[in-house]
Amino acid sequence: MRRIIMSGAYQSTSAAAVTAIVLSGVLSACSAAGTEESPMSTEQSVSRPLSGQRVAAQSTLKRSSGASTPSSNASLSPSVDGGPLVYQFGPVISKVKVVPVFWGNNVDGTVKANIPGFLSRVTQSHFYMDWLAEYSTTMPGGTNQVIGTGSATAAITISPANPTANHITAEEIQTELAAQIDSHVLPQADENTFYMVYFPPLQPGDHITNVGGHSCGGADAFCGVHRNFLHGSASIRYAIIPDFGPGSGCDVGCGSNTQFNNVTAVSSHELIEAVTDPNTVGGWRTASNTYEIADTCEADQDTLPGSSDVVQLIWSNRFGVCTSGYGPGNVVGLGGKCIEVPGYNTTNGTSLDYFDCNGGGNQVWRANSTPQLTGLGGKCIDLPGYNTANGAILDLYDCNGGGNQAWNFTYAEIRGYGNKCFEIPGGNTTNGTGIDYYDCHNATNQKWTFTTAGEIRGQDNKCLDVPAANTANGTQVVYSDCNGGQNQKWAVQPGGAITGLGNKCLDLPASNTANGTGIVIYDCNGGQNQKWVISGSVVGFGGKCLDLPASNAANGTPLAFYDCLAAGNQNWTFFP
Ligand SMILES: [Zn+2]
Repeated sequence: MRRIIMSGAYQSTSAAAVTAIVLSGVLSACSAAGTEESPMSTEQSVSRPLSGQRVAAQSTLKRSSGASTPSSNASLSPSVDGGPLVYQFGPVISKVKVVPVFWGNNVDGTVKANIPGFLSRVTQSHFYMDWLAEYSTTMPGGTNQVIGTGSATAAITISPANPTANHITAEEIQTELAAQIDSHVLPQADENTFYMVYFPPLQPGDHITNVGGHSCGGADAFCGVHRNFLHGSASIRYAIIPDFGPGSGCDVGCGSNTQFNNVTAVSSHELIEAVTDPNTVGGWRTASNTYEIADTCEADQDTLPGSSDVVQLIWSNRFGVCTSGYGPGNVVGLGGKCIEVPGYNTTNGTSLDYFDCNGGGNQVWRANSTPQLTGLGGKCIDLPGYNTANGAILDLYDCNGGGNQAWNFTYAEIRGYGNKCFEIPGGNTTNGTGIDYYDCHNATNQKWTFTTAGEIRGQDNKCLDVPAANTANGTQVVYSDCNGGQNQKWAVQPGGAITGLGNKCLDLPASNTANGTGIVIYDCNGGQNQKWVISGSVVGFGGKCLDLPASNAANGTPLAFYDCLAAGNQNWTFFP
């Protein structure tokens, strides 16, 4: 069950707004923007796949938190108002700078000891933060911010006027934060500052109240809230994270993990919501303006790769799934999972499977010019015995140059900074037409095939070309008859660059994402405007396709070979 809080009494900016993770028997979330009080509304509950089960081919495919999910949580309600998120032309936070704040000396010892490290690691995590660049605001009319990693300061323990935080309201918390900023106990806020305030245990039955809601219990109970208020000319963005200890009320219903891991998951929820919608109005919100980025994925937790840090999954517009991130080398398919070498087993003949993306080295693939997809141990994705029967299972094998190891991204988009697409403008296939960058719209003039010869061919089989073999920086690439020349040879490099003649990189000039910007070649510099993602079918021997059998996105599903069907279970996105 979901509840919607509409704020009214509190007015900080032109439109007062409040977002919260709301507890209502089960973990639930809520956010709303508005200027008037509104009756609470309830949304229809939708059954959720049980732990270990999955529903494929849904735009709101959910991950469960696996074995740690108790059966009592099996019917948590996923959002019925999931993505996509719509940008409302206000600010985001591009390089978040978290200030952990402890409300007096009695904050939970584990939180005090460990939350600063968690916030530091998670804000700096390329895995968790980098993909949020899809929510950058570089479009016309946007605030021209590119979201990436951030940082956290050391924690600051304040000595508030109400150290026990009993009978405290969000307005009183704001007054306290403003006073602490003015007295320089807390740093001044800039556009990236986000104060995350952790509270001590309250007296039994007491709550922090926020626009009619109550922390950890009572009417419209919440597990966490992020808000903002104006202080002078500064917008102060902050979160309220109550104590989750036994008897708090937040010890149940705020996640199914350990107490501290639930605190970190809720913290990550509020963190990413603040990054993408810091003023709780004007950022990225669902079309109904009801939910923010983390609400769609509530209760879905994941552990960041190589750590024990538990975060909440976040909604990706690009993939239509909840995710904790994608990394270089991932090949991501239906439901946002990754192709992997199970168990890191590089024995020839090991069947490949499909699994939650986790940053592991067994999920990293490289495209080379053969073209092969090489993975762990430098071995290749292989069609055993050239067996082209539908349903043949793919394996990992020593690379041998065989046709059963050749894979071509076919009828694929080339997407980059700001998530737009390479395009033949107007579908004009006349030789010499300049290639430009445009909103992706799934049309033929945005589909490209990477050939065995190293070409990138377009809609009528012509080639991406450096005109007159002119390698001057800024030369716009064009569409032209294929001629086998070096000025039509391209290589996809680890990290996302696509290099061509003279070892120059395909480049979006000045990171200008305006529709119609010409794609050029330029000295490679590692910039985001030279990183590309390839998304489409992967075609192998005999013209058949890499396939996720029966659209079964369950962890461990083996990868197969099948007639190409242009279906979602044959669409793969490669992060080089
Ligand atoms: Zn939320």
